[in-house]
Amino acid sequence: MQEVFKVSCRVEAMTTRGRNWILASLFWATSVCGLAAEPPLTRFEFSQPHMGTRFRIVLYAPDAALAARASDEAFQRIARLDDTMTDYRSGSELMSLCHKAGGGPVAVSEDLFRVLSHSQELAKQTGGAFDITAGPVVRLWRRARRRHELPEKKELAQARRLVGTKYLRLDAEARTAQLLKPGMMLDLGGIAKGYAADEALKVLARHGITRALVAAGGDIAAGEAPPSEAGWRIGIAPLESPDKPPTRFLLLHDAGVSTSGDAEQHAEIGGIRYSHVIDPRTGRALTGRSSVTVVAPNATSSDGLATALSVLGPRRALALVRSTPNTATLILRASKKGTQTFEYNLAPFVAPAAPGSHPGLPL
Ligand code: ADP
Ligand code: MG
Repeated sequence: MQEVFKVSCRVEAMTTRGRNWILASLFWATSVCGLAAEPPLTRFEFSQPHMGTRFRIVLYAPDAALAARASDEAFQRIARLDDTMTDYRSGSELMSLCHKAGGGPVAVSEDLFRVLSHSQELAKQTGGAFDITAGPVVRLWRRARRRHELPEKKELAQARRLVGTKYLRLDAEARTAQLLKPGMMLDLGGIAKGYAADEALKVLARHGITRALVAAGGDIAAGEAPPSEAGWRIGIAPLESPDKPPTRFLLLHDAGVSTSGDAEQHAEIGGIRYSHVIDPRTGRALTGRSSVTVVAPNATSSDGLATALSVLGPRRALALVRSTPNTATLILRASKKGTQTFEYNLAPFVAPAAPGSHPGLPL
């Protein structure tokens, strides 16, 4: 099934008709092969709250016992990752690292190290638009949204002095992290859910379940396609009314897809809408209504990128996606003239809107 993903990317320049034909013939071939090789699979769905959102696992398995065992283990993996990476509990591994800010290098777990290095890489790629050292500023804006009161200038300036990727030093050989300034605070809210979704998918695969999808709110890790389907149908919520059924659909497998937006987490202060995504370069929360969807090879990448692209704004976001292999984006922005749409490389992943067919998973 990996083939569909690659072929559809390569035929980007073809007409829609030509592309559909290739997809259809591959779909036919995999269905026939599937009949011969696979036992009958049943769809199972499970969900649990983790990381401040609801994780959903949809999988195809030969029997209910295996489905339950595999999904239980996947949820346990997610729960452990939450314990590692949350900044809401002072006992988490992330927070004990932060408590040692200003001291020497600290040995960290493999999971934490992987997420820290991916984040630093993304920070470099985005010129600091994605920055996990923005914790002190993120916290001020979190409080601001709760109290409906803007952060004070002085506080914000103080917090900003603790922000900067250069103050986070990683050593891959020793697997250590060092926070150079006392008071520094890391925040993995823009990437941890994607990583957890990817890892949950790996747990399912270890149980032989490869036709599966893990959704962590707006961050989705999609494995192989459901039996007899070309991919997982994933709906993108309309910007103006996110609760309404999606009007645009993607068809994905073996990929990550994330939407970063302010639909769920924002506050209006003095008539201005402030997002939970902040621009680490200015210390200000993003304003205005937007939603950024990113397709990438996995959910760790799509999660981080979606947050980063929201900060960069459409022009620089599109430039970044153009230079990042195997990624696509759809950016929706509210303006006085209505919703503005920007997209790059989306065509290979777009599913035809098929009323009455499989409803799709809301993103
Ligand atoms: P969601 O959590 O709704 O999926 P995102 O993936 O965009 O949305 O993550 C937003 C969270 O990421 C914020 O709540 C905050 O914890 C953190 N964050 C905010 N701005 C940034 C940024 N510029 N870089 C890295 N992390 C950020
Ligand atoms: Mg994100």
